[in-house]
Amino acid sequence: MTQVKTTRNTKIYDAIIIGSGASGGMAAKELTEKGMEVIVLEAGPPVNPARDFSMHKNAYEDMYRGFGPPGWRQKDQWMENTAGHFSKHFYVKDSENPYTTDPGKPFMWVRARIVGGKTLHWGRLSWRYSDLDFKAATHDGFDADWPIDYAEIQSYYDKVEEFVGVSGNKDGLWYQPDGNYLPPMNLTCGEQLLKKGSEKLGRPGITSRVSMLTAAKPIHKKYGRAVCHYCGHCGDGCDVGAMFSSVSATLPVAAATGKMTLRPNSVVRHINVDPATGNAKGVSVVDRVTFQELEFQGKVIIVAGSTLESTRLLLNSKSRQHPNGLGNSSGVLGHYLVDHFGGISGFGLFHTLAGRDSVNEDGKAAGLFVPRFRNLDAKTKHPKFLRGYGFECSSGMGSNPNAGRIAGFGKDFKESVRKWSTAPVYMTTRANMLSRFENFAEIDPGGTVDAWGIPVLRIHIQHSDNEREMAKDAADCIEETLKSAGAEDISVGGEMTAPGKIIHELGTARMGNDRKSSVLNKWNQTHDVKNVFVTDGAAFVGAANQNPTITIMALTMRACDYIESERKRGNL
Ligand SMILES: Cc1cc2nc3c(=O)[nH]c(=O)nc-3n(C[C@H](O)[C@H](O)[C@H](O)COP(=O)(O)OP(=O)(O)OC[C@H]3O[C@@H](n4cnc5c(N)ncnc54)[C@H](O)[C@@H]3O)c2cc1C
Ligand code: SF4
Repeated sequence: MTQVKTTRNTKIYDAIIIGSGASGGMAAKELTEKGMEVIVLEAGPPVNPARDFSMHKNAYEDMYRGFGPPGWRQKDQWMENTAGHFSKHFYVKDSENPYTTDPGKPFMWVRARIVGGKTLHWGRLSWRYSDLDFKAATHDGFDADWPIDYAEIQSYYDKVEEFVGVSGNKDGLWYQPDGNYLPPMNLTCGEQLLKKGSEKLGRPGITSRVSMLTAAKPIHKKYGRAVCHYCGHCGDGCDVGAMFSSVSATLPVAAATGKMTLRPNSVVRHINVDPATGNAKGVSVVDRVTFQELEFQGKVIIVAGSTLESTRLLLNSKSRQHPNGLGNSSGVLGHYLVDHFGGISGFGLFHTLAGRDSVNEDGKAAGLFVPRFRNLDAKTKHPKFLRGYGFECSSGMGSNPNAGRIAGFGKDFKESVRKWSTAPVYMTTRANMLSRFENFAEIDPGGTVDAWGIPVLRIHIQHSDNEREMAKDAADCIEETLKSAGAEDISVGGEMTAPGKIIHELGTARMGNDRKSSVLNKWNQTHDVKNVFVTDGAAFVGAANQNPTITIMALTMRACDYIESERKRGNL
């Protein structure tokens, strides 16, 4: 048998942070600012904005017009649905990072493996959750409430948004709480029409809130972040730091304290426990490039590898003290996996806007959002489903003039494309999937391993009738809204997206007050091992229908405050 040589680092860090995405980056900033010495272990390669970001590269400058050489996606990145030729290096290679699913029950797992994680190319929509979400079970009787309420997290939302820089309006909707925002981006003419159409139906339409600098405060300028210049290619990396990412914002703050060691190419395979106490003492790592085996020691472990990677690591961290995986005495670890669903969409044309002069309308990221309007109260209760959904909407001229939707040929065709390119309006759904025990991830019983020999996940998930009823209602409401706004040539349809595809996978290490039915307490601390914290989307009890990342960062900040207070009390 070959003996694997492991290099043990003798230094004991105050904290080991696993992952450098939204959650890991925030943990690094918070803990180093509190004076703790941390090592951030990131599985992916380092990032160099000058080399790796292509925000100003247009498709026509590329030989393959931005699509990349034939076959690249099928060869290595078949699940990375949102990866383009200019951004594919942000995403994992599925060929190196397999996972398995049940036949006929797909899960589309889109993953980033690079310093910064998915914050390098995320959509930046930043919505708070409200007590309609945190106390959903009290509201409708299904599943469990979160162990926290809005009042307990509000000040953390405030602080995260202030640091991140979120643009938007105060809209005064109790179920979609406001923060103190940077100036909003303007709605286009078509979005204004749609807003009026939606409001005629009693459904407020609001400007989307996005983590992009429409103005730069001293905290942003201090680390070189500039105001957005609306080039519109945020998904390919933003090298002026207008878009929030770990690389533009949190990691530079942590680095400036002199207390962070960032080690890229460090795939954590196992959390190691002290056999005497059962507490964590460090982690085992395999170097992504050299395959060298390493060990690091820390007093506190922050698991922030993203929802399913964190749960995979905990499940793989079996020991005599934790035979079912670390933090899994309840048997709940891996369960209650959710994603939002979308795919139900509508398209129309505002004839009143056809043929107008061209204007630049495609650089801004914030369109119109119609927040949830079902099951807010007795008046809005829907007879066929629980919870609700919102609509992400846009209208205006884009770099793609929707020529594919127009029939014809030659000069007439070109004139037609030009005429209608100023008039499109688009709506799509972001809906709440219910958290159910039977949707879960486990270590693949078939023994599949990744390129570094680490056991992978098998994911079991499917939608229920509640989601299907919601999808039907969403399609009807899209049509109603487009008509109410005066759009014509309307087409509505689409299939519900496969779980995973919206890239808001959440749950699997849920918080709760009862250690028999949850993995974490209300401070993101595992019930079983007091010095292990899971700070990413795995902690979520329910998905709500809003994008989750600002909540992930607020929970991370809150957990870091708790860690500091517990250290002061001598408990960690
Ligand atoms: C195209 C796209 C659009 C999106 N749009 C939005 C949006 O509009 N609004 C919103 O709220 N959210 C959006 N999201 C989701 C958002 O990006 C995630 O919610 C957020 O990044 C999650 O943060 P995280 O820290 O949990 O994970 P990540 O940001 O994915 O970071 C996790 C990091 O951990 C590392 N890691 C994993 N396992 C290990 C290991 N074993 N050892 C060491 N390192 C490890 C990974 O390499 C990765 O870098 C979008 C995502 C994508 C891809
Ligand atoms: S955030 Fe603004 S400046 Fe940065 S890539 Fe996006 S549009 Fe361009």
